Amino acid sequence: MKFPIVQIVEPSSQQSKHRAAGIFVRKETRDDINSIKKRLKSIREYSRENNIILIEQLKNTLKRYDGLKITYAENAKEAASYIKKHADNNDLLSLNKSNVVINEIRPELKALGFKTYLRYFKEFNNFEKEKFKKQIIDYWSLPGMHERGLIESFGVNKKIEKITSYDMRDYIAVLGVNAISAEDANIFFLQHMSNISKDFEQARKIILIVSIEKIMKDTGDALLHTQSMGIFGLESILLDLSPNEKEIFDFDSLPVISHTASEKEIHVILFDNGRSKLLNNDFRDLLLCIDCRACARQCPVGMHLLLEKEMVYSPKNYLMGFLQGSLPTTEGCLHCGRCHVECPVDIDIPTLIWKAQLEYYARHSRGLKKRMLDDPEVLAKLGSTTAPISNWLTRIPIVKLLTELFAGVHHKANLPIFHKETFRDWFERRRHGR
Ligand code: SF4
Ligand code: SF4
Repeated sequence: MKFPIVQIVEPSSQQSKHRAAGIFVRKETRDDINSIKKRLKSIREYSRENNIILIEQLKNTLKRYDGLKITYAENAKEAASYIKKHADNNDLLSLNKSNVVINEIRPELKALGFKTYLRYFKEFNNFEKEKFKKQIIDYWSLPGMHERGLIESFGVNKKIEKITSYDMRDYIAVLGVNAISAEDANIFFLQHMSNISKDFEQARKIILIVSIEKIMKDTGDALLHTQSMGIFGLESILLDLSPNEKEIFDFDSLPVISHTASEKEIHVILFDNGRSKLLNNDFRDLLLCIDCRACARQCPVGMHLLLEKEMVYSPKNYLMGFLQGSLPTTEGCLHCGRCHVECPVDIDIPTLIWKAQLEYYARHSRGLKKRMLDDPEVLAKLGSTTAPISNWLTRIPIVKLLTELFAGVHHKANLPIFHKETFRDWFERRRHGR
């Protein structure tokens, strides 16, 4: 059976440090980080502008590999139903932490009765203490190298050229592909632990989810895309490194299936879920996204917005979830603009969130709560005119609870103190010594 090559991109800081030393000694000129961003943006634009052609090209390329089963899923329900149909009553899934898998498909998989785990969380326990400490130190030494344009700090450390059935266990791996080349179907993953490599070794069935904007022209473009996820998303990854008990499952401890009893299966789902509609509307820049999550790093409200839903947060995922209909609002955004500053491909997320909100309210009426909060000046005038009674009222517990119920202001929030005299009047009075 023939399979495409799977290329695993990992941090390689020790190796890069040696290379870097040589480069500095030889005084070679390096690409600076801005020229890397420029290259990245141009390959992402190519991929977006040629998306329909690239999908067709990839479908034809994939047909060369007789070991693959290929399908196209219009939405998350279709993708989950396909997985159910091919699961042979197995309900145990290992997922990677990609937003297509976690945010988009996992809710549908859970609704169909699957048990889902992120196997890399278990790896926190598997690491020998010293080895793990070294790996983390290596990670933290990378950003300084990126400033010098050393994109080699993330490189292909492993190539899986042959899929074997020797160490197989009875579970299914559902993996969101980070990039794929339409020319030769080389598949790229960014890996921080060893979860992807192990799933390729151990899972009885592997379902690869290729969201359509991740199809790149060739292997070179797919590699730069995947390296850039590490380079620009590094700090977000590090800040997100905390094990979650609920996601842990020890796949290594499952019994090995005799490889003569069964053959490994690999499926590819080309996944749309509203993306092709974006190609021709005002939100098309979202298709430039590489899912590095650099935009999440400085978002002041980020961690609170999707945490309860156990979704992977980034401002882009927040907006995408709203456009796909899985999130009810984007009102949590403060429009501070930090996400736009961080984005390596310059996606103006705050403006797109405004646009989504305006379009939504053009179709739906604003409720009382929304109208009150949208017009803080009216509330401020009311509070000032009725001060000090307003100050006394807003400190009574029952009024605080009613304010939370009707205006959405948390009962523990301290409201401002209202003054009858405006700031301008106060200033004038002081200026004239009155
Ligand atoms: S503009 Fe909104 S989404 Fe972006 S960083 Fe600020 S609060 Fe977060
Ligand atoms: S929108 Fe966010 S996740 Fe996407 S490329 Fe920009 S910074 Fe990375």
